[in-house]
Amino acid sequence: RAKQAGRATYRIFEAKMDQELQARKALEYDLRQAVLKHELEVHYQPLIDLDSKSIVAVEALVRWRHPSRGLVSPMDFIPLAEETGLIVGIGEWVLEKACTQALSWPQLRVAVNLSPIQFRNRDLIETVRDVLTRTGLEPARLELEITESVLINDASSALDILNALKDLGVRIAMDDFGTGYSSLGYLNSFPFDKIKIDRSFIGDMNGKDKSSAIVRSVITLGQSLNMTTTAEGVETAEQATFLTQEGCNQIQGYYFSRPIAADEFTIFLENWTGFETNLSSVAAA
Ligand code: C2E
Ligand code: MG
Ligand code: MG
Ligand code: MG
Repeated sequence: RAKQAGRATYRIFEAKMDQELQARKALEYDLRQAVLKHELEVHYQPLIDLDSKSIVAVEALVRWRHPSRGLVSPMDFIPLAEETGLIVGIGEWVLEKACTQALSWPQLRVAVNLSPIQFRNRDLIETVRDVLTRTGLEPARLELEITESVLINDASSALDILNALKDLGVRIAMDDFGTGYSSLGYLNSFPFDKIKIDRSFIGDMNGKDKSSAIVRSVITLGQSLNMTTTAEGVETAEQATFLTQEGCNQIQGYYFSRPIAADEFTIFLENWTGFETNLSSVAAA
Protein backbone atom coordinates (compact mmCIF):
# COMPACT_ATOMS: atom_id res chain seq x y z
CA ARG A 1 0.00 0.00 0.00
CA ALA A 2 2.70 2.36 1.02
CA LYS A 3 4.50 1.51 -2.15
CA GLN A 4 1.39 2.20 -4.18
CA ALA A 5 0.82 5.51 -2.45
CA GLY A 6 4.44 6.33 -3.07
CA ARG A 7 4.06 5.62 -6.74
CA ALA A 8 0.95 7.78 -6.94
CA THR A 9 2.73 10.64 -5.21
CA TYR A 10 5.60 10.22 -7.58
CA ARG A 11 3.29 10.38 -10.57
CA ILE A 12 1.77 13.60 -9.25
CA PHE A 13 5.25 14.93 -8.70
CA GLU A 14 6.23 13.95 -12.21
CA ALA A 15 3.13 15.55 -13.68
CA LYS A 16 3.86 18.72 -11.77
CA MET A 17 7.47 18.77 -12.96
CA ASP A 18 6.22 18.25 -16.44
CA GLN A 19 3.82 21.16 -16.13
CA GLU A 20 6.54 23.41 -14.82
CA LEU A 21 8.85 22.38 -17.60
CA GLN A 22 6.14 23.05 -20.17
CA ALA A 23 5.41 26.46 -18.68
CA ARG A 24 9.10 27.29 -18.73
CA LYS A 25 9.47 26.13 -22.32
CA ALA A 26 6.48 28.24 -23.28
CA LEU A 27 7.93 31.26 -21.54
CA GLU A 28 11.29 30.70 -23.18
CA TYR A 29 9.63 30.47 -26.59
CA ASP A 30 7.69 33.65 -25.88
CA LEU A 31 10.82 35.43 -24.75
CA ARG A 32 12.66 34.55 -27.96
CA GLN A 33 9.67 35.89 -29.87
CA ALA A 34 9.55 38.98 -27.68
CA VAL A 35 12.92 40.10 -28.89
CA LEU A 36 11.93 39.62 -32.52
CA LYS A 37 8.48 41.13 -32.10
CA HIS A 38 9.78 44.19 -30.30
CA GLU A 39 7.79 43.53 -27.16
CA LEU A 40 10.57 44.73 -24.87
CA GLU A 41 10.51 48.29 -23.57
CA VAL A 42 12.87 50.36 -21.51
CA HIS A 43 11.48 52.44 -18.67
CA TYR A 44 13.35 55.17 -16.87
CA GLN A 45 13.65 56.19 -13.24
CA PRO A 46 15.28 59.47 -12.14
CA LEU A 47 18.28 59.81 -9.80
CA ILE A 48 18.21 63.03 -7.84
CA ASP A 49 21.29 64.87 -6.64
CA LEU A 50 20.81 65.94 -3.04
CA ASP A 51 23.01 69.05 -3.22
CA SER A 52 21.32 70.63 -6.19
CA LYS A 53 17.93 68.88 -5.88
CA SER A 54 18.13 68.30 -9.61
CA ILE A 55 17.72 65.16 -11.67
CA VAL A 56 21.23 64.16 -12.69
CA ALA A 57 20.81 60.66 -14.03
CA VAL A 58 18.29 58.07 -15.09
CA GLU A 59 18.31 54.30 -14.69
CA ALA A 60 17.15 52.24 -17.64
CA LEU A 61 14.99 49.28 -16.60
CA VAL A 62 13.69 46.73 -19.06
CA ARG A 63 10.07 45.53 -19.22
CA TRP A 64 8.28 43.04 -21.41
CA ARG A 65 4.92 44.00 -22.84
CA HIS A 66 3.54 40.49 -23.25
CA PRO A 67 0.47 40.18 -25.51
CA SER A 68 -1.53 38.24 -22.91
CA ARG A 69 0.38 38.56 -19.62
CA GLY A 70 0.59 42.35 -19.67
CA LEU A 71 3.67 44.24 -18.53
CA VAL A 72 6.09 41.62 -17.19
CA SER A 73 8.64 42.64 -14.57
CA PRO A 74 12.33 41.99 -15.25
CA MET A 75 12.37 39.88 -12.09
CA ASP A 76 10.08 37.45 -13.91
CA PHE A 77 12.12 37.07 -17.09
CA ILE A 78 15.73 38.17 -16.51
CA PRO A 79 16.59 34.89 -14.72
CA LEU A 80 15.27 32.88 -17.68
CA ALA A 81 17.01 35.22 -20.09
CA GLU A 82 20.22 34.54 -18.18
CA GLU A 83 19.78 30.75 -18.16
CA THR A 84 19.10 30.67 -21.89
CA GLY A 85 21.77 33.19 -22.84
CA LEU A 86 19.11 35.46 -24.34
CA ILE A 87 20.30 38.14 -21.91
CA VAL A 88 23.29 38.90 -24.09
CA GLY A 89 21.13 40.09 -26.97
CA ILE A 90 18.55 41.68 -24.70
CA GLY A 91 21.27 43.48 -22.76
CA GLU A 92 22.81 44.89 -25.90
CA TRP A 93 19.40 46.01 -27.10
CA VAL A 94 18.69 47.77 -23.77
CA LEU A 95 22.11 49.41 -23.86
CA GLU A 96 21.62 50.78 -27.34
CA LYS A 97 18.07 51.90 -26.63
CA ALA A 98 19.09 53.67 -23.42
CA CYS A 99 22.11 55.37 -24.98
CA THR A 100 20.02 56.59 -27.91
CA GLN A 101 17.29 57.81 -25.59
CA ALA A 102 19.85 59.64 -23.44
CA LEU A 103 20.71 61.86 -26.40
CA SER A 104 17.39 63.62 -25.91
CA TRP A 105 18.19 64.29 -22.22
CA PRO A 106 21.61 65.92 -22.66
CA GLN A 107 21.94 67.00 -19.04
CA LEU A 108 21.64 63.44 -17.70
CA ARG A 109 23.79 60.41 -17.26
CA VAL A 110 22.19 57.09 -18.10
CA ALA A 111 22.65 53.96 -15.98
CA VAL A 112 22.28 50.52 -17.52
CA ASN A 113 22.30 47.21 -15.63
CA LEU A 114 24.72 44.51 -16.73
CA SER A 115 23.99 40.88 -16.04
CA PRO A 116 26.85 38.68 -14.79
CA ILE A 117 26.30 36.64 -17.96
CA GLN A 118 26.99 39.66 -20.14
CA PHE A 119 29.95 40.39 -17.96
CA ARG A 120 31.41 36.97 -18.67
CA ASN A 121 30.87 37.38 -22.40
CA ARG A 122 34.15 38.09 -24.15
CA ASP A 123 32.54 40.58 -26.49
CA LEU A 124 31.32 42.91 -23.75
CA ILE A 125 33.99 45.57 -24.18
CA GLU A 126 33.57 45.48 -27.95
CA THR A 127 29.79 45.71 -27.59
CA VAL A 128 29.92 48.71 -25.29
CA ARG A 129 32.44 50.47 -27.51
CA ASP A 130 30.32 49.81 -30.60
CA VAL A 131 27.14 51.04 -28.97
CA LEU A 132 28.89 54.25 -27.90
CA THR A 133 30.20 54.76 -31.43
CA ARG A 134 26.87 53.97 -33.10
CA THR A 135 24.84 56.21 -30.82
CA GLY A 136 27.42 58.95 -30.37
CA LEU A 137 26.78 59.10 -26.64
CA GLU A 138 29.65 60.63 -24.71
CA PRO A 139 31.15 57.70 -22.75
CA ALA A 140 31.25 59.69 -19.49
CA ARG A 141 27.46 59.85 -19.63
CA LEU A 142 27.10 56.10 -19.47
CA GLU A 143 27.13 54.32 -16.14
CA LEU A 144 27.15 50.53 -16.01
CA GLU A 145 25.65 48.91 -12.93
CA ILE A 146 27.01 45.57 -11.82
CA THR A 147 26.36 43.49 -8.74
CA GLU A 148 28.92 41.93 -6.46
CA SER A 149 28.21 38.49 -7.90
CA VAL A 150 30.30 39.28 -10.98
CA LEU A 151 33.36 39.76 -8.81
CA ILE A 152 33.18 36.55 -6.84
CA ASN A 153 34.07 33.77 -9.25
CA ASP A 154 36.96 35.25 -11.11
CA ALA A 155 38.16 38.43 -9.50
CA SER A 156 41.21 38.92 -11.66
CA SER A 157 39.38 38.74 -14.97
CA ALA A 158 36.60 40.89 -13.48
CA LEU A 159 39.22 43.50 -12.72
CA ASP A 160 40.54 43.36 -16.28
CA ILE A 161 37.05 43.84 -17.67
CA LEU A 162 36.25 46.71 -15.35
CA ASN A 163 39.52 48.41 -16.20
CA ALA A 164 38.85 47.98 -19.91
CA LEU A 165 35.39 49.49 -19.45
CA LYS A 166 36.90 52.38 -17.50
CA ASP A 167 39.36 52.89 -20.36
CA LEU A 168 36.38 53.45 -22.65
CA GLY A 169 35.49 56.34 -20.39
CA VAL A 170 32.29 54.91 -18.90
CA ARG A 171 31.47 54.91 -15.21
CA ILE A 172 30.95 51.83 -13.06
CA ALA A 173 28.46 51.51 -10.22
CA MET A 174 28.17 48.73 -7.68
CA ASP A 175 24.46 47.93 -7.54
CA ASP A 176 22.50 46.53 -4.59
CA PHE A 177 25.40 47.08 -2.22
CA GLY A 178 25.00 45.19 1.01
CA THR A 179 22.98 42.25 -0.29
CA GLY A 180 25.74 40.04 -1.66
CA TYR A 181 28.97 39.12 0.02
CA SER A 182 29.77 42.80 0.37
CA SER A 183 33.43 42.33 0.89
CA LEU A 184 34.90 45.73 1.61
CA GLY A 185 37.93 44.50 -0.29
CA TYR A 186 35.87 44.76 -3.48
CA LEU A 187 35.54 48.49 -2.99
CA ASN A 188 39.25 48.69 -2.54
CA SER A 189 40.29 46.51 -5.46
CA PHE A 190 37.83 47.49 -8.16
CA PRO A 191 37.44 50.86 -9.88
CA PHE A 192 33.91 51.78 -8.78
CA ASP A 193 32.68 55.32 -9.25
CA LYS A 194 29.48 54.76 -7.33
CA ILE A 195 27.94 52.64 -4.60
CA LYS A 196 24.20 52.06 -4.76
CA ILE A 197 22.91 51.17 -1.32
CA ASP A 198 20.36 48.40 -1.64
CA ARG A 199 16.79 49.38 -1.06
CA SER A 200 16.27 46.76 1.64
CA PHE A 201 18.33 48.96 3.99
CA ILE A 202 16.50 52.13 3.01
CA GLY A 203 13.11 50.50 3.54
CA ASP A 204 14.10 49.38 7.03
CA MET A 205 15.37 52.70 8.34
CA ASN A 206 13.60 54.69 10.99
CA GLY A 207 16.33 56.98 12.22
CA LYS A 208 17.79 55.03 15.13
CA ASP A 209 17.81 51.40 14.10
CA LYS A 210 20.53 49.19 12.69
CA SER A 211 19.62 49.83 9.05
CA SER A 212 20.06 53.55 9.56
CA ALA A 213 23.45 52.91 11.12
CA ILE A 214 24.47 50.75 8.18
CA VAL A 215 23.27 53.31 5.66
CA ARG A 216 25.13 56.06 7.52
CA SER A 217 28.34 53.98 7.51
CA VAL A 218 28.12 53.17 3.81
CA ILE A 219 27.67 56.87 3.01
CA THR A 220 30.76 57.69 5.08
CA LEU A 221 32.64 54.85 3.42
CA GLY A 222 31.71 56.18 -0.03
CA GLN A 223 32.85 59.66 0.95
CA SER A 224 36.21 58.36 2.19
CA LEU A 225 36.75 56.33 -0.95
CA ASN A 226 35.72 59.23 -3.16
CA MET A 227 32.78 57.32 -4.62
CA THR A 228 29.32 58.70 -5.24
CA THR A 229 26.70 57.19 -2.95
CA THR A 230 23.18 56.59 -4.21
CA ALA A 231 20.31 55.28 -2.10
CA GLU A 232 17.77 53.12 -3.92
CA GLY A 233 14.16 52.56 -2.96
CA VAL A 234 13.45 55.93 -1.32
CA GLU A 235 9.70 55.98 -0.71
CA THR A 236 9.14 58.63 1.95
CA ALA A 237 10.01 62.23 2.75
CA GLU A 238 11.56 61.04 6.02
CA GLN A 239 13.98 58.76 4.19
CA ALA A 240 14.89 61.56 1.76
CA THR A 241 15.49 63.92 4.67
CA PHE A 242 17.62 61.44 6.59
CA LEU A 243 19.74 60.69 3.52
CA THR A 244 20.21 64.40 2.82
CA GLN A 245 21.27 64.96 6.39
CA GLU A 246 23.74 62.09 6.28
CA GLY A 247 25.40 63.45 3.15
CA CYS A 248 24.23 60.84 0.66
CA ASN A 249 24.87 62.17 -2.86
CA GLN A 250 21.88 60.87 -4.81
CA ILE A 251 18.56 59.21 -4.21
CA GLN A 252 16.22 57.19 -6.35
CA GLY A 253 12.81 55.77 -5.53
CA TYR A 254 9.05 55.74 -5.81
CA TYR A 255 8.89 58.87 -3.65
CA PHE A 256 9.94 60.77 -6.78
CA SER A 257 8.89 58.47 -9.56
CA ARG A 258 8.43 54.87 -10.51
CA PRO A 259 10.24 53.81 -13.66
CA ILE A 260 8.21 55.31 -16.53
CA ALA A 261 8.21 55.25 -20.34
CA ALA A 262 10.56 57.65 -22.14
CA ASP A 263 7.83 60.11 -23.23
CA GLU A 264 6.47 60.32 -19.73
CA PHE A 265 9.97 60.79 -18.39
CA THR A 266 10.54 63.76 -20.69
CA ILE A 267 7.45 65.41 -19.24
CA PHE A 268 8.53 64.54 -15.71
CA LEU A 269 11.89 66.17 -16.38
CA GLU A 270 10.29 69.33 -17.76
CA ASN A 271 8.04 69.67 -14.73
CA TRP A 272 10.68 68.95 -12.11
CA THR A 273 11.06 71.76 -9.59
CA GLY A 274 13.04 70.01 -6.87
CA PHE A 275 11.66 68.80 -3.58
CA GLU A 276 11.50 69.87 0.04
CA THR A 277 13.27 68.17 2.89
CA ASN A 278 12.32 68.79 6.45
CA LEU A 279 15.76 69.09 7.99
CA SER A 280 14.76 71.37 10.85
CA SER A 281 12.21 68.93 12.21
CA VAL A 282 14.73 66.10 12.07
CA ALA A 283 17.33 68.22 13.87
CA ALA A 284 14.76 68.99 16.57
CA ALA A 285 13.74 65.35 17.05
P1 C2E B 1 17.96 47.20 -9.83
O1 C2E B 1 18.98 47.41 -10.87
O2 C2E B 1 18.42 47.23 -8.42
O3 C2E B 1 16.84 48.29 -10.11
C1 C2E B 1 16.09 48.92 -9.11
C2 C2E B 1 14.77 48.22 -8.91
O4 C2E B 1 14.14 48.79 -7.76
C3 C2E B 1 13.79 48.43 -10.06
O5 C2E B 1 12.98 47.27 -10.14
C4 C2E B 1 12.95 49.60 -9.56
O6 C2E B 1 11.68 49.65 -10.15
C5 C2E B 1 12.85 49.25 -8.10
N1 C2E B 1 12.58 50.43 -7.30
C6 C2E B 1 13.00 51.70 -7.50
N2 C2E B 1 12.55 52.51 -6.54
C7 C2E B 1 11.84 51.76 -5.69
C8 C2E B 1 11.10 52.04 -4.50
O7 C2E B 1 11.04 53.16 -4.01
N3 C2E B 1 10.49 50.98 -3.89
C9 C2E B 1 10.55 49.73 -4.40
N4 C2E B 1 9.91 48.77 -3.74
N5 C2E B 1 11.22 49.43 -5.52
C10 C2E B 1 11.86 50.44 -6.17
P2 C2E B 1 12.67 46.55 -11.53
O8 C2E B 1 12.53 47.55 -12.62
O9 C2E B 1 11.58 45.59 -11.30
O10 C2E B 1 14.02 45.76 -11.80
C11 C2E B 1 14.42 44.73 -10.95
C12 C2E B 1 15.81 44.27 -11.27
O11 C2E B 1 15.86 43.66 -12.56
C13 C2E B 1 16.82 45.40 -11.33
O12 C2E B 1 17.22 45.78 -10.04
C14 C2E B 1 17.92 44.74 -12.13
O13 C2E B 1 18.69 43.90 -11.30
C15 C2E B 1 17.12 43.88 -13.09
N6 C2E B 1 17.03 44.58 -14.38
C16 C2E B 1 16.15 45.51 -14.80
N7 C2E B 1 16.43 45.90 -16.06
C17 C2E B 1 17.53 45.20 -16.45
C18 C2E B 1 18.32 45.15 -17.64
O14 C2E B 1 18.09 45.87 -18.63
N8 C2E B 1 19.36 44.27 -17.65
C19 C2E B 1 19.66 43.48 -16.58
N9 C2E B 1 20.70 42.65 -16.67
N10 C2E B 1 18.96 43.52 -15.43
C20 C2E B 1 17.90 44.36 -15.37
MG1 MG C 1 20.37 48.81 -11.08
MG1 MG D 1 19.79 48.18 -7.43
MG1 MG E 1 18.00 45.47 -7.04
